[in-house]
Amino acid sequence: MSKARRDSDSAGSASTPPADIVRVNFEFRRELARKVEGNLAGFCYQCGACVGDCPSATYGGGFNPREIMLKVLYGLGEELLTEDSILWQCTNCYNCHERCPQDVKPVEVIISLKNMLSDLGIYPDNVDKVIKAFEETGRTTPVNPAVQRQRERFGLPPLPPVPVDEIRQLIEPDNAEPRAGARADADKGGTE
Ligand code: SF4
Ligand code: SF4
Repeated sequence: MSKARRDSDSAGSASTPPADIVRVNFEFRRELARKVEGNLAGFCYQCGACVGDCPSATYGGGFNPREIMLKVLYGLGEELLTEDSILWQCTNCYNCHERCPQDVKPVEVIISLKNMLSDLGIYPDNVDKVIKAFEETGRTTPVNPAVQRQRERFGLPPLPPVPVDEIRQLIEPDNAEPRAGARADADKGGTE
């Protein structure tokens, strides 16, 4: 919101709207709308219900899904898509999705914003590691023999092999040739 106000302030002529008028960036909203399934962000009425059960709002540093949705309503992409974006604090837990009375699906909006950041090459190292692990093994978390032993201890069956080739086909249909390491994992069942 502050950027929109700065824009208004800087115009500085007699025909300029008052400083508290916010200019909505509809271009950014349209760009985001193309990425969010359902595109229901415009129905957010800022009730704040999504904040109550949000673990990142409770334990994070300044994260607030309602404020994120407000910036989305104003189309403030330049405040959302930054190098040090707060969006990565969202855990994708979907609590906000269950609480929202408007069925806005704020988590889906946030995931789409993260995808936009990723398209800009902006993502934390740990996210990069998870993506690489998924591409190479079909799992986001490595499964080693210790995990299998734990499963056995709790009476759980061994994890089944992962169809790495099929996953890669879904991720990149035009470039589905597996990497050498991934092929070896798939041949071993992808469990280690
Ligand atoms: S999905 Fe993200 S924004 Fe929604 S409640 Fe969970 S951490 Fe908060
Ligand atoms: S709960 Fe839904 S309507 Fe309320 S502020 Fe959050 S996204 Fe907006």
